[in-house]
Amino acid sequence: MSTSNVRTTADLYDTYVLKNYGRAPITLARGRGAQVWDDEGRAYLDFTTGIAVNALGHCHPHWVAAVQRQAAELIHTSNLFRNANQGELARRLAGYAGPGRVFFCNSGTEANEALIKLSRLHGAKKAGGAEGKCHKIICAKNAFHGRTFGGMSATPQQKIQKGFAPLVPGFVFAELNNLQSFADLVDENTAAIFIETIQGESGVHACAPEFLRGLRELCDKHNLLLMLDEVQCGLGRTGKFYAYEHAGIRPDAIGMAKGLGGGMPMGAMWVAEPHAELFHAGSHGSTFGGTPLACAAGLAVLDVIEKENLLEKVTLQSAPWIASLKKLAADFPQKISEVRGQGYLVGVQMASDSAPVIAKLRELGLLVVGAGNNTVRFLPPLNVSEEELAKSVEIFRSAVE
Ligand SMILES: *Cc1c(COP(=O)(O)O)cnc(C)c1O
Repeated sequence: MSTSNVRTTADLYDTYVLKNYGRAPITLARGRGAQVWDDEGRAYLDFTTGIAVNALGHCHPHWVAAVQRQAAELIHTSNLFRNANQGELARRLAGYAGPGRVFFCNSGTEANEALIKLSRLHGAKKAGGAEGKCHKIICAKNAFHGRTFGGMSATPQQKIQKGFAPLVPGFVFAELNNLQSFADLVDENTAAIFIETIQGESGVHACAPEFLRGLRELCDKHNLLLMLDEVQCGLGRTGKFYAYEHAGIRPDAIGMAKGLGGGMPMGAMWVAEPHAELFHAGSHGSTFGGTPLACAAGLAVLDVIEKENLLEKVTLQSAPWIASLKKLAADFPQKISEVRGQGYLVGVQMASDSAPVIAKLRELGLLVVGAGNNTVRFLPPLNVSEEELAKSVEIFRSAVE
C-alpha cells in the first residue's frame, strides 16, 4: 500500500493549524511523570510541564483514576446546577486562601478577566454606584496576564498588544518592586492593584516580600483591591500553596489556573469574603467553568500535593537544585548572567539569545521554556525526583560547555 496520502503531523500543522506559535519541531506522543516521548520514541526530561500545568507530571495514577472515574460518571452539567466536586474544590481552595468564595473558569486569562470585572464592581461601589469613574487598575511593567482583551490590556508588551488596538482603557503601569512608583499612580479613580506575585513570562522576576507588604498597606489606605495573578506561581510551585504566602500577606483576590487542573484546562478566581458579595446572580458566568470532570482533576491535584507532602518536598529539593544552577552560572559567567526564582519556577538568564540554548537542550533530551530577557525557564513537576533535578543540571552544563 502506498503511504503517499498519509500526511505527517508536521504537514498537517503546516497546512491547517493557525500560525500563531513558534513551535519546537517535535511531536509529543506520550508521558509518564517528568518524562515525555516524541512520536519517534525519543525520551525527554520534561521541565516545561506544559508551561507549569502538569503539576504532578504526566499521568499520575491518582489523577488518572480520578478523571477516568468521573468521566464515566458525569462530565458536564453547566452552572445551571450544583455539582459536588465544584463545592468541594471551592472549599479546599478557600482553605488555603482564607474566608472567601471561588469562581471557576477555564484558563488563566479568564481568571484574570474575572479579577478585572471584580475591580470594576469594587470601583463602582467606591464611587457611590457611579459606573466607569473609579476604574483604574495599576499593573506592573513587564507583566503578563493573558491574551483576552482584559488580560492583554494589562500586559504592556508591544509583541503581545501590537495589531489589536483599541485596548481596554484604564490600565496604568508602575515599576515592579518600587512601592513609590505604584503609590505615585494612585488617584481617586483607582480601583485596584493587579500584579503577578512572581512574573513568569517576563523572565522570572519576583515581588520582594516587603514590596508586597507595602502594596497591602497602600491598598488598605486607599480602599483598593490587591489582586494577585498566581496563574503560574501558585498551586505549590514555590513551596507554598500560594506564592504570596512567603510575604505573610493576604490579597483581596487571586487568579489561578495552570497547575490547578494538573493538565485539565481550568482556572479560578478566589475573592475575599466582603468583596465576594459584589457578584450576584447574572453578573458573571462561564458555560464550562467548574465542571464535575475539571473539578475532579483539581481535587486529585490537591490530594496528591497534600498526601505526598509536595509543598515541603518542593522547598527541600529546590534549594540544592537552584544552588547547583547558580554554581553552574558562576562557572560560566560569560554565558550565564543570572539565576532567579524560587521552588520550581526558575529562570536562568543567558548573556545572549536563549533560543539556541533551548534548542540544544532539546537535542540533549531536556525540554525547557523560553521567557523574556534571554531567560531559560525551568518548570519541573512538583513531584520531580532528586535524580531528575540533578540530570537537568548535568544536561544544562553540557549545553553551555
Ligand atoms: C499563563 C499565564 C496567564 C494566561 O493563562 P492562559 O491559561 O494561557 O490564559 C496569565 N497570567 C500568568 C501569570 C500566566 O503565567
